[in-house]
Amino acid sequence: MQRKIGVMGGTFDPIHHGHLVAASEVADLFGLDEVVFVPTGQPWQKGARSVTPAEDRYLMTVVATASNPRFGVSRVDIDRSGPTYTKDTLTDLHAEMPDASLFFITGADALGAILSWRDVEDLFSLAHFVGVTRPGYELEDDHLPEGAVTLVEVPAMAISSTDCRRRVAEGHPVWYLVPDGVVQYIAKRGLYREQGEQ
Ligand code: ATP
Ligand code: MG
Repeated sequence: MQRKIGVMGGTFDPIHHGHLVAASEVADLFGLDEVVFVPTGQPWQKGARSVTPAEDRYLMTVVATASNPRFGVSRVDIDRSGPTYTKDTLTDLHAEMPDASLFFITGADALGAILSWRDVEDLFSLAHFVGVTRPGYELEDDHLPEGAVTLVEVPAMAISSTDCRRRVAEGHPVWYLVPDGVVQYIAKRGLYREQGEQ
């Protein structure tokens, strides 16, 4: 039978339980064999903020997913130079797993930006898109081509990486917002201590 692979793209700066719950729920609902987390390369939508080095984001993603046999991490985006485009991510993963069908998982906020993505029709031919609920964002598919996107309600996790970074910078805990190993990795590497634009 054709393998079904979830693809969860993100900056993961840091990865948190909102990402993990979304991936786990979609895997369950769609009967996915695996979910591949794909940390971005140089992120082009993040504006002025300087993003944590890709290797740190990659390692935090590995630490956070290591205990789940159905979760994996791909380096395709961080090993490709230049900004990350979802089309390239899906094209590379499709080349690695030509027999798999891909399910691209995205939160309500990122789904809203889908129409601004390049090559939207190509995207829909590379993967089925799954939009998940996220507290604070409206999940709507009014403008999306029919049948290309499935909207899914997942347990509400009002967590963002931005908030986690701000908490660390201000000396507040991120325990229980991110996996324990990620708390320890952040401390070990001294990430997010700088005050300033988070
Ligand atoms: P930042 O605040 O830096 O933008 P983030 O928390 O939004 O970080 P990203 O790495 O930007 O995390 O998100 C990766 C993907 O995960 C996106 O599709 C995003 O919509 C989704 N996502 C992030 N947090 C949640 C959440 N709490 N619930 C559901 N989906 C989420
Ligand atoms: Mg985000």
